[in-house]
Amino acid sequence: MQINGIKMTQKNMIYLDYNASAPLHKEAHTAMFSIYNDHNGAYNASAVHGYGRAGRKIVEDARIKIASMIGAPPAQVIFNSGATEGNNTVLRHFSGSFPDETVFISAADHPSVADSADILDNIKTIPVDSNGLVQPDILDTLLTEHKTSLVSMMLVNNETGAIQDVSKLSSIVHRHGALLHCDATQAAGRTSIDMAAMGIDFLTLSAHKIGGPQGVGALALGLCGQTPTLLFGGGQEKSARAGTENVAGIAGFGAAATAAYNNIEGYQTLSKLREKFEQRLKEVSPDVIIHCKDTPRVANTTFFSLPNTNSQSLLMALDLEKISVSNGSACSSGSVKPSHVLKAMGCSENIASSALRISTGWATTEGDIDAFLAAWDKIYKRVKR
Ligand code: PMP
Repeated sequence: MQINGIKMTQKNMIYLDYNASAPLHKEAHTAMFSIYNDHNGAYNASAVHGYGRAGRKIVEDARIKIASMIGAPPAQVIFNSGATEGNNTVLRHFSGSFPDETVFISAADHPSVADSADILDNIKTIPVDSNGLVQPDILDTLLTEHKTSLVSMMLVNNETGAIQDVSKLSSIVHRHGALLHCDATQAAGRTSIDMAAMGIDFLTLSAHKIGGPQGVGALALGLCGQTPTLLFGGGQEKSARAGTENVAGIAGFGAAATAAYNNIEGYQTLSKLREKFEQRLKEVSPDVIIHCKDTPRVANTTFFSLPNTNSQSLLMALDLEKISVSNGSACSSGSVKPSHVLKAMGCSENIASSALRISTGWATTEGDIDAFLAAWDKIYKRVKR
């Protein structure tokens, strides 16, 4: 299979798991490999010599590209290892620094946010509605009852693709004197982001969801004056994130960000493919439940359940047909836990244990969708026999 001119090594595989990791964009591939090819990647961006200065320029150019994608000044973008680190950095900072105040997280958030409720102090959960969204009146009541330092909610849900109305919710958060952190990992490149206009004080990003490499991301700061810091011991990233910068990875992230940002409009055409897909999915298997179908969603995601089945078995059956999909968050697949997002949305254990996620991207074709449906038809008839 060719994706963006780059050969995928798994022959004849259909890849429908962009929300887990999108394939590397051609531009990101070129940016990274030119760094490895010229001087074997020997660019320590903190070094004073010529190589160091060249590395610094690569990092600063990429910073400008990431900043453009999210409407932030470049100086407010801090590179790190990805969204798990970004989310942990913000939550640990507010949990530890404001012991007399509450940190609220949404019940449908990614485990790198949600699990902080078990580990950190002062964390409370905001319930979500049947579409996984935070309700303005509930948020308002909770913030009236609890002195709050931070509210954390994701902009786009990684399992359902549902888009949170952050602009509306941020004004409630600020009215109560709290700050807003947004996990925008699944939003970048799929929907426009403007941190200042949307009232976001902290924003986490991950390169590998937009066609950059894994293990690179960024935490963007608004102008609230707080700099959450998790790693100390080096002056990198203006001492906000110690550790030698991953220069090639950052270059790949920057290139992917520009490609994604320039294609936001084009990306929306994936919703046409999804419409056809969901219609045919229902024809083949009328008892599937498509989650968040009537909620604003990013164009590439369908999350559905086939009641009275087990998503792990469905996943393996599809894998045998050479089709790669997911049963929700890749970070928790491998374990057979039901989707915590669906449970937070009020779904039964049965529905939460039988969910599959199809997520498409720039290289997905109608042929891929046809192949999925042909395999699904076979599997469905077998499980329903
Ligand atoms: N947040 C969301 C919404 C995600 O989808 C993911 C990746 N599954 C993460 C955070 C973690 O990102 P990373 O892999 O960069 O640590």
